[in-house]
Amino acid sequence: ARPDGWFERRCMLSADRTALMDEDTGFTLTYRELAEKVDMAARSLFKLGVRQGDRIGILTPNDSRLLVLLFACRRLGAMLVPLNWRLHVEELRHILTDCTPRIVWYHAESLTAFPGLPVDSACSWLPLDQLDESIELERARLAAADEEMCIFPETETAAREDDADIPWLMIYTGGTTGKPKGVVLTARSLYWNALNTAITWQLTETDVTPTVLPMFHTGGINALTLPVLMSGGKVICVQSFQPERMIGLLEREQCTIVLMVPTMYHLLVQSPRFADAKFRTMKTFLSGGAPCPMTVYASFAARCLPFKEGYGATESGPNNFVIDCGEALLKPGSVGLPMLFNDVRLIGAGRDVTGPEEVGELALRGKHLFHSYWNNEEATAEAWLDGWFLTGDLAKRDKDGYFYIVGRKKDMIITGGENVYPLEVEHLLERHPEVGAAAVVGVEHPKWGEIVAAAIVPKPGCQPTAEALQAYCALSIAKYKIPKLIKFIEELPKTAVGKLDKKSLFPLFAGGME
Ligand code: ATP
Repeated sequence: ARPDGWFERRCMLSADRTALMDEDTGFTLTYRELAEKVDMAARSLFKLGVRQGDRIGILTPNDSRLLVLLFACRRLGAMLVPLNWRLHVEELRHILTDCTPRIVWYHAESLTAFPGLPVDSACSWLPLDQLDESIELERARLAAADEEMCIFPETETAAREDDADIPWLMIYTGGTTGKPKGVVLTARSLYWNALNTAITWQLTETDVTPTVLPMFHTGGINALTLPVLMSGGKVICVQSFQPERMIGLLEREQCTIVLMVPTMYHLLVQSPRFADAKFRTMKTFLSGGAPCPMTVYASFAARCLPFKEGYGATESGPNNFVIDCGEALLKPGSVGLPMLFNDVRLIGAGRDVTGPEEVGELALRGKHLFHSYWNNEEATAEAWLDGWFLTGDLAKRDKDGYFYIVGRKKDMIITGGENVYPLEVEHLLERHPEVGAAAVVGVEHPKWGEIVAAAIVPKPGCQPTAEALQAYCALSIAKYKIPKLIKFIEELPKTAVGKLDKKSLFPLFAGGME
C-alpha cells in the first residue's frame, strides 16, 4: 500500500519547488527531496520498531526534521509529540510520563536544559543527527538493492485523510489555566484545518512563511506551516525571534505571510528598523495566541501594512475565523467571520446568545477540531457538548457579524454581581500615555465577592500613581470596572509560550483590600 494523501500528491505537483528551509544553516529541501526523506525516515522508524498507535517525541528548536518526522509518522499511523524545550525539567517529566513515547528524538542543545534527562526507561532517546544517518543508510541500501518495495503494513493509514480518525499529532496546551493537556489531533483534524486555512487565506505555491513560533505549539505547526505546505509554498524554520533579524528575513526571503504572537509584534514595531523596512511582498502580518495590544494595530496602520488578528486554540485546529486586512484595521480587535467549514455559536446561561455585543462562551463545530485530551476522559467530556467544542473563551459579535474575543471564561471577574472582562480594562489602561503594559485580575473580597485589581508596568521613565490611573479610568468605564487595587511591577509574568501568566499575579495582591 503506497500512502497517497495530500502530502504525497503535493510533493508530486510541486516537486521542484522549495518546500522547507532551515534559517540557521540555509539548508533547503524541494518537495521531491522532502518526499524522499519522509520515505526513508518512515522506513527507519519502522525498523526501530515504531508501529501504529505509538507516540514519537521530538525535542528541538524549529527544524525541518520535525516536519520530516511528522509526515513519516503519518505513514506508520504513529503520533508525533513535539515537546516544549522551554519547560522546567519537572514539567517535561510530567508530559513524558503522560504520553509514554517509544522514541524521543532530540537536538543536542535542547537536551542540555534538562538535567537528569534522558533517564533509563522503555523509551529510546536518539539524537537527531542519527536520523540523518539512518536516512542516508536507507537511501544507500535501497539504491544498492534497486528496491522499490514499500515495507509499510496495509493499515488504516491508507484511509481517506479527510475522514481518517487516526491520531497523528499531539500538542500539549500552553498550560495557561492549569496543567498542560495533551490535545490529540487526527489526520482529519489536520486535513480540514489546512484546507480551511488555505482556502480562506488564499494560499498558493508562491507563498513564503517564516515559522518563528515554536513548532511544539499549534501556532508553529498547524496555524500556517501545514496550510502553506498543503498549498505548495515555502516554509522557513526559524529557531529564535530577534526583531532586526526577522525584519531582514522578511525582506530578503520575499516572505508573503507571517504569524507571530503579540509580544513579538510589540518588539518588532519598537525596532528602529521597522519604520523604513521594505515589506514589498508581504500580504499578511497575522497575530494570534493572545489579545493584541491596540498600540500594535496603530503602528501597522500608520505604515499601511496588512495586519490582522486571528484567534486559535490547540483544540480547534487552531484556525477558525478570517478577516480581510483592510477590515481588520477598521475593526481593531476583531478576529473576523467564521471560516468556510466552521460552525460557531455563542452560549450564555444555557441558551444561544444572538444579539449584537452580547457576550457568550464561544463554541465551535467542524472536522478540524481535536479528538480528545490524552489520558483525560474527564476533561474531554467537559469540553464537548453535543458535538460542539466549548472553548472556555468568551466572545461577542458586532452588528455586522464580526467576532471579538472578550477573554477567558475563567478570567472573568464578578464584582458585586456585575461582570467585568479584564481585556476591556487592560486595553483602556494600555492607552494611558504612562502605561507600558497592564494585566487585570479578580481578587477575592468579602463584600464584593471579587474586586478588580491591576498590575501595571510603567513606560520607561514614567511614574504613574494609582489615583491618577483610577481617575483616568473613571472617564470612560463604569465605576465597578475601575481597578480598586493597583500595583506597579517591572515586567508581566509570562508562561513558557510567552502568554500572560495570570496565576503568578495573585501573590502580588495577597492581603487584598479592606
Ligand atoms: P491551557 O488550555 O492549558 O490553559 P492555553 O489556553 O494557553 O493553555 P492554547 O491552545 O495555547 O492553550 O491557547 C489557546 C487560547 O489562547 C485560547 O483559548 C484563547 O484564550 C487565547 N487566544 C488565542 N488567540 C487569541 C486572540 N486573538 N485574542 C484573545 N485570546 C486569544
